[in-house]
Amino acid sequence: MLNRRQFLGVVAASVSTRAASLRAAQSSEWGSSVFDLHFHLREEPAANIAHLDGAGITNANLLTRATAGARVTAVQAAAPGRFTWFCSADPSRPESIEALTRSVKAGARGFGEMKYHLAANGVEFRRAYALAAEMKVPILIHFQDVDHFENEGTWGSGFARDFERILKTYPNTTFIGHADAFWANVSADYHNEAAYPSGPIVRGGITDKLLGDYPNLYGDLSANSGNNMLSRDPEYTADFLRRHQSKLLFGSDCACTDGHGGSARQANNPAASRLTGKCVARETLTILKRSASQQIFRKVVWDNARTLLKLTS
Ligand SMILES: [Zn+2]
Ligand SMILES: [Zn+2]
Repeated sequence: MLNRRQFLGVVAASVSTRAASLRAAQSSEWGSSVFDLHFHLREEPAANIAHLDGAGITNANLLTRATAGARVTAVQAAAPGRFTWFCSADPSRPESIEALTRSVKAGARGFGEMKYHLAANGVEFRRAYALAAEMKVPILIHFQDVDHFENEGTWGSGFARDFERILKTYPNTTFIGHADAFWANVSADYHNEAAYPSGPIVRGGITDKLLGDYPNLYGDLSANSGNNMLSRDPEYTADFLRRHQSKLLFGSDCACTDGHGGSARQANNPAASRLTGKCVARETLTILKRSASQQIFRKVVWDNARTLLKLTS
């Protein structure tokens, strides 16, 4: 006979087994569990879950502001085990260092998305790099030197010129690079001509070299920037995924509502109109799937993020 505690244990195990097999079924569309590293927190818990379920994604990392604690808790309660979170705060504001520190103590697994009108090599961002090392969490940065619309201004500017020096200066900081300047600079012929360059990639670009040379640098493949880079040159893409298979992380940065491209407008970003009406998650997973072996695909869409965010269970 089972006593009451054992009986409840059996019930709980069978419920969690059912939940696990449901999750496995949801992710089987891609032949692997999928972790979306770059998912901006949405207002309603259900809206967050709808995108994951619609796109066949198992788990996601919520990118939030320091003020979003209660909303993160609500999403995590609505879908236990499916959401981790990063926190961002403007490093030019003195109170941000305290806010970032508090967020890690409250369970954030990294800083991000750090997207600010500041130089990547400036004193403000440097404070955040040092804090990330001290707190032992990765920092995800948006690098952009070309405006998407008039007078937008740059974000984390100076990547091509300055970032190697930063990697050298902060060897104990784990950096995750993202956005236009990061991915355009895989090609050696890029000089800020466009937000999203097209055509075959010239080998020897800065980002490719840095990913190979610096163990503290990872690449977040989200958004049009990552999708565009992966779309330019199929031969290069397959080789790039093979060479950096332990350094690349799938992310969507998708704004569609349903995981099928619903309401996806790229409104403030005309140069990214190729993804209008499409789910960025689906588009990028499709390219990764056809460009990599099953083993490499699984590393990029699941294992690498789990390792980097120290998610062992
Ligand atoms: Zn971004
Ligand atoms: Zn989507």
